[in-house]
Amino acid sequence: MSSRIEALRQAFRAQFGGAPSFFVRAPGRVNLIGEHTDYNEGFVLPMAIDRDVRLALAPRADRQVHVFSLNFQQTDRFSLDDLQQTEITAWSNYLRGVAWALQNAGFTLTGFDAVIEGNVPLGSGLSSSAATELATVTAFRALGNLAVDPVQAALLSQTAENDFVGVKCGIMDQYISSLGQAGHALLIDCRSLAYEAVPLPTGVQFIIVDSGVRRGLVDSAYNERRAQCEEGAQRLGVTALRDVDPAQFERLAADLPPLVAQRCRHVVEENARVLHSVAALQRGDVAAFGLDMDKSHVSLRDLYAVSHPALDTLVEIARAAPGCLGSRLTGAGFGGCTVSLALTEHVQAVVDAIRDEYPRRTGLTPQIYLSGAEAGAGVITAEA
Ligand code: ADP
Ligand code: MG
Repeated sequence: MSSRIEALRQAFRAQFGGAPSFFVRAPGRVNLIGEHTDYNEGFVLPMAIDRDVRLALAPRADRQVHVFSLNFQQTDRFSLDDLQQTEITAWSNYLRGVAWALQNAGFTLTGFDAVIEGNVPLGSGLSSSAATELATVTAFRALGNLAVDPVQAALLSQTAENDFVGVKCGIMDQYISSLGQAGHALLIDCRSLAYEAVPLPTGVQFIIVDSGVRRGLVDSAYNERRAQCEEGAQRLGVTALRDVDPAQFERLAADLPPLVAQRCRHVVEENARVLHSVAALQRGDVAAFGLDMDKSHVSLRDLYAVSHPALDTLVEIARAAPGCLGSRLTGAGFGGCTVSLALTEHVQAVVDAIRDEYPRRTGLTPQIYLSGAEAGAGVITAEA
């Protein structure tokens, strides 16, 4: 019996005086390649990680939801007939928002008692928010036997985060938390929302490192990059940078203001790189995939200018360790995490190098997470 399930079971008994009927889970994620491509209607390649948000649940006969959070040690109670935002138990807005989005889409929901717990680090860029949303959708779906398919589950979770919680996120996090498959990354076309599971080779692992750097600059720099991309697309006469390939870009780049050209070059090449790296995975060429990760980092650092010295240091340390095949910043940048690919037998050496050198060179403490690709949201059937 997993200790996390046992802790949920015990907390449920303490809070509600009985046993939960069932458990659900939804994973966090890491983006392997394809950064700042989503809002240019391009490609991303995330995978679901082995950290998740879980709920232990039992249905209620009324229209109330009572939830105790193990992470926050707080209880929230709300009615499905009166869904309002709350500032007191802010974490509950993700659950309330999902209920709101599901009801707006016409689903009839069942109230429940639950304990919620997660080990996706909160606010580290591994998308604990999407995990919370998808776990909640899964809870309502299972309780009411609702016909919500995994794509709709992702879209309604995004609606909850955008319009109820008030965070303007894209679709990647919810898609991968919902649609992830064990042993696979997920290629997502951010224009059509088409997706394809891409098998990851065995014998390698991903090392996610939280740099410990959080920068306040992110919003303004992000908006500036978006504006530069829009200007580039407009000047090139396309709907989005997604519509330009690297060869076309070579011919047209000289007509753009230099800084706009530099930013657009990252996006155009990064989109091509995602497709190139997917082809590498499909033929089992992990070395080629790793090189694309490296190129992605260099482009984010030099062309898109969204890296940070701490992220560059992490990438440098990982890359210098034998058996590391590629390394890059992941997420919007300016801080947050890196993701590196290593042969399984060399993972420990890469981890040791980071633990040893990173604090010495930066004064910061890294948080290290090892993960393969896990399955997306679902009811927990057999407990590992
Ligand atoms: P990220 O998604 O990068 O982890 P966000 O700021 O988008 O960071 O989302 C973090 C928020 O999601 C938390 O502050 C909390 O409100 C909610 N959340 C995440 N994990 C949990 C959890 N285990 N239980 C309750 N709420 C959670
Ligand atoms: Mg989030």
